[in-house]
Amino acid sequence: MPITRLANLIDGRLVPPRADHWLDVFEPATGEVFAECPNSNAADIAAATDAAQRAAPGWAAMPVEQRARLLQRLADLVEARLDAFAALESRDSGKPVALARRVDIPRAVSNLRFFAAAVTAWGSESHAMALGPSDQGAINYTLRQPLGVVGCISPWNLPLYLFTWKIAPALAAGNAVVAKPSEITPCTAALLGELAIEAGLPPGVLNIVHGRGPTVGQAIVEHSAVKAVSFTGSTATGAHIAAAAAAQFKKVSLEMGGKNPAIVFADADLSDENLDTLVRSGFANQGEICLCGSRLLVQRSIYDGFRERYLERVRALRVGDPNDDASELGALVSKAHHDKVLACLAQARAEGGRVLCGGEAVIVPGRCERGWFVAPTVIDGLPDVAATNQQEIFGPVVTLIPFEDEAEALAIANGTGYGLAASLWTRDLSRAHRLSAQLDFGIVWVNCWMLRDLRTPFGGVKHSGVGREGGVEALRFFTEPKNICIRY
Ligand code: NAD
Repeated sequence: MPITRLANLIDGRLVPPRADHWLDVFEPATGEVFAECPNSNAADIAAATDAAQRAAPGWAAMPVEQRARLLQRLADLVEARLDAFAALESRDSGKPVALARRVDIPRAVSNLRFFAAAVTAWGSESHAMALGPSDQGAINYTLRQPLGVVGCISPWNLPLYLFTWKIAPALAAGNAVVAKPSEITPCTAALLGELAIEAGLPPGVLNIVHGRGPTVGQAIVEHSAVKAVSFTGSTATGAHIAAAAAAQFKKVSLEMGGKNPAIVFADADLSDENLDTLVRSGFANQGEICLCGSRLLVQRSIYDGFRERYLERVRALRVGDPNDDASELGALVSKAHHDKVLACLAQARAEGGRVLCGGEAVIVPGRCERGWFVAPTVIDGLPDVAATNQQEIFGPVVTLIPFEDEAEALAIANGTGYGLAASLWTRDLSRAHRLSAQLDFGIVWVNCWMLRDLRTPFGGVKHSGVGREGGVEALRFFTEPKNICIRY
């Protein structure tokens, strides 16, 4: 089959990288190259940033309803091609096509629609001051002005979902964008670029430049015209970006790794539906979601019975060809990541962990026999301080950890360097409130997981994040507040 070459979107045109260098894009389910993506460099970023600088004033001056209408049109175009986007996302990332159809692409459409609507309903603050005499006072109002040109850098696990989660608020707030999707999963962002032209976005308002992090990503962060950087990815890259951006005092929003706990108390409602959600929270998208609950803390009094019911479900999960609607887990995103997850499993064994199910690569016969599949794996018998319980694995691996009481659950849950999301399973309302307030995480789900309202603040604490995305938090990030004080 011919190899597709993806293009950059710069100044409203689809263009090859200036240096004509390319990167292979693999289909994780087969291990084969199926596309090439631009291996761009700082010259491409300079061209994209120039175009963005030219476009920014006109875009910022456009009536907000008109900007919103263009984003809605882009959402309509993505929605009209939902199946094509889902197939491409699945082929590029290894995730089941059914998941991409149900979650990734609809959510990308929602991201565009949500911020288009949110910005039209957004107001800025005003503060009235009394100055003593009854006829004297002052009024302060806040202008929230777009920053100009902003950078958006996204990862491979939820490619279009997280790419649009950044560019939608950036554009809605009136900024011109230079964006870089992950070079490992660039395809749906490239297709979005084509649709941005069709939707009628003015040239230069959205620029999509493909390539490696240390070249293209770094060039975005270092370019003096880029006023803010919104990044989602690993904690190591986030630390690097924070340091590079600090030299120019740039605003950064960093969404990074996690080692999230799911905490199950003896009084939890362990209905089939809730158990299914707990299994999903560990293994959805092959465990490659930053929000996955990879540490399952279970109260000791129910530990043995819970473990058996949980294992029965995990063993029944179907790993297979992502094109098959019956597959619940597909392939891991890359050979390197597959090997990293297997190395983590070897480490877990070396630490004394007991592998209760999975623990190895899976060969899927036929078309996918050379794909990068790993069996859903459950491990117990490791202390919470073991590396396996401290480091992000980002694969289909869950560790079970027993606890005695609330205090111990809290200490274990909070006892890692990360703080993205926790889930809490209990019927005791007071305990739910008490623990939610004490859990060191940006998000706490009680008796649910990954239930997302796009108006809520999204992000983590500690090594999981700086700043928040979502709702007005994102619109605030992508604007500069200015206080105007008028005395009368
Ligand atoms: P990564 O850090 O390797 O890459 C993320 C993006 O940053 C890619 O586009 C990459 O090319 C770019 N990049 C790499 N080096 C760069 C540099 N020096 N300068 C600028 N950009 C650079 O992460 P990944 O492996 O793609 O994604 C997996 C990680 O993302 C996991 O740690 C996961 O937890 C995290 N993640 C977090 C969230 C969240 O919301 N907190 C969501 C999804 C994924």
